[in-house]
Amino acid sequence: MMEFVEHRQVMVLGGGPAGFTAALYTARADLKPLLVTGMTLYGQASQTHLIENFPGFPKGVGGTELGQLIEEQARHFGAEVVFDVVTSVNLEQRPFEVCLSSGKYTADCLIICMGADSRRLDVPGEREFTGKGVSFCATCDGWFFKDKDIHIVGGGDSALEEALFLTRFARSVTIIHRRDALRAGAILENRARNNPKVKFLWNAVVKEILGSEKIEELLVEDTVTGEQKRISTEGVFVSIGHNPNTTLFEGQLKITPAGTLDVDRQLQTSVEGVFAAGEIADPYFKQVVTSAGMGAAAAISATKYLENLEK
Ligand code: NAP
Repeated sequence: MMEFVEHRQVMVLGGGPAGFTAALYTARADLKPLLVTGMTLYGQASQTHLIENFPGFPKGVGGTELGQLIEEQARHFGAEVVFDVVTSVNLEQRPFEVCLSSGKYTADCLIICMGADSRRLDVPGEREFTGKGVSFCATCDGWFFKDKDIHIVGGGDSALEEALFLTRFARSVTIIHRRDALRAGAILENRARNNPKVKFLWNAVVKEILGSEKIEELLVEDTVTGEQKRISTEGVFVSIGHNPNTTLFEGQLKITPAGTLDVDRQLQTSVEGVFAAGEIADPYFKQVVTSAGMGAAAAISATKYLENLEK
């Protein structure tokens, strides 16, 4: 049987910008929150080399650096941080039960900030060549592609930002996009179009990733003509969005058709006392600043909820 560790008024599940901001706000409300980081400390932000649109940093700030700063601020006011993963939750009983790898906690109130994970292409070869030429994180793996001709799949802000970052290392970066117009914003599009190392392959989808010891070719299909061809590559980055990490909550919390946790204006989920913030509950904005803002809002709601419990 799993060892019971302790009871908390508030637990924050997830250590990205939403989670650490929720921890900061609940710590300042003297609720002594315990934040569980999850596997990726500082969340998706940690995989961003430079965040240029977080207010207060006119020259940009590294994703990990920003995470460290918010963590320091939260700890300063009494937040506790545990480097562990949540393995299960029971929201049917009160206090709520939260199992981590290291033991079991109970909590009066939860703020779920578990973010979203990279979406996969789900094509043959993707799993086999992950780590052998297929990557989901330019900041993590870019260096391995020095002087190589590589590809990136996706047409959103992340794909373009990663493509531009990869030009520091690669000889060329070809963006494969399934349409002939980008989803990304104008600033990144202009930067990409003006970068001599960036090329575009429009109206194309990857059907298969091929190679032997490592990746060698992509089988791509023209989305207009249906024509298929093989193209050589020395690496492919997949940057086609993210899926909210809701698996642990299936059957316990209401989930929207977009796959996010369903929250009301106070960021409360379908269970009273369980709040959610950041990309796990945000199908629209998905910015570091909006995630941090949601973390603050959820923490304010959680504080009010606990005050009412005491009355
Ligand atoms: P996104 O905006 O959802 O873009 C995903 C891209 O992948 C789209 O171009 C989509 O094509 C393509 N795609 C999706 N599934 C695909 C599939 N199975 N095969 C091929 N292509 C596929 O995701 P994101 O780029 O990760 O951005 C997420 C959020 O973060 C957005 O709100 C974005 O604005 C924000 N963000 C902002 C910045 C910034 O402001 N600097 C940086 C990074 C991210 P379609 O266009 O055809 O749908």
